[in-house]
Amino acid sequence: MILFKKAADLSQYTQLQQSKQKKVGFVPTMGALHAGHLSLIEASKKANDITVCSIFVNPTQFNNAEDFKHYPITIEADIEKLIANQCDVLFLPAVEEIYPAGFDPKHYDLGHLETVLEGYYRPGHFQGVCQVMEQLLTIVQPDSLYLGAKDYQQCMVITRLAALMNLQDKMDISIEPTLREQSGLAMSSRNLRLNESEKDQALAIFRSLQLVKDQIEKEEIQALEKSAAATLTENGLKVDYVRIVDSDTLLDVSENTKRKVVLVAAWLGNVRLIDNLTLN
Ligand code: AMP
Repeated sequence: MILFKKAADLSQYTQLQQSKQKKVGFVPTMGALHAGHLSLIEASKKANDITVCSIFVNPTQFNNAEDFKHYPITIEADIEKLIANQCDVLFLPAVEEIYPAGFDPKHYDLGHLETVLEGYYRPGHFQGVCQVMEQLLTIVQPDSLYLGAKDYQQCMVITRLAALMNLQDKMDISIEPTLREQSGLAMSSRNLRLNESEKDQALAIFRSLQLVKDQIEKEEIQALEKSAAATLTENGLKVDYVRIVDSDTLLDVSENTKRKVVLVAAWLGNVRLIDNLTLN
């Protein structure tokens, strides 16, 4: 595996590969890698000649200073996992490399994506995601980008960013399914901050999603959202939201809705977890 710390060196490398007709797949991450991240690497390796993974804990997307301070960093283990999974390139930039001119105050027009669900509960978060992704996509210029459905709204935001950057015809976006522990708990770097009994409590999230999936044809949406939220509260989680919405828009279900998605955000102590399940 080749390690790049400088943006210019990585750009030069990917451009050289592309000039030799090699396809470049890109997996952006914040590290503390788990099997979910590695499934994105595997998907990229299948469809591309070169797979680039980035590890960068992006300060501008943390709307909560404590979350940033406690975000897990396991770089030695990450490098071992990337090598074992035959990732071709790791990009490990310093903050100054991504934000040479300081934090860009530019505003991205994300429409309602910025005001619903994660947008509402994490003000500024998606602006930060767009800032870092614009930098990363400009540096790597991948043919394909790999994202996880676990961060459902983020996938929509990045798809919107790609359109704002006029990348629709230049870059494919692949959205890969959420990898779960055998228990059903969605893999997440933040799970490293949970002890065993908290991990058991966190299972209520998957149970609440399954409850919705099982009952969606039988119960009214609002009643179902309430009972799913109750499952979480009963297990000691503090609920930000449980919402059943249109999977294409994240807006309320209407007669035009083709598919629904249930999305959850809840706190276990001071760790915030999200998960979702697409329905029918
Ligand atoms: P993160 O390091 O949390 O920023 O995640 C990097 C990428 O991995 C994002 O595209 C995530 O959606 C994706 N990802 C995170 N957790 C999972 C999971 N359990 N299964 C599949 N992809 C995931």
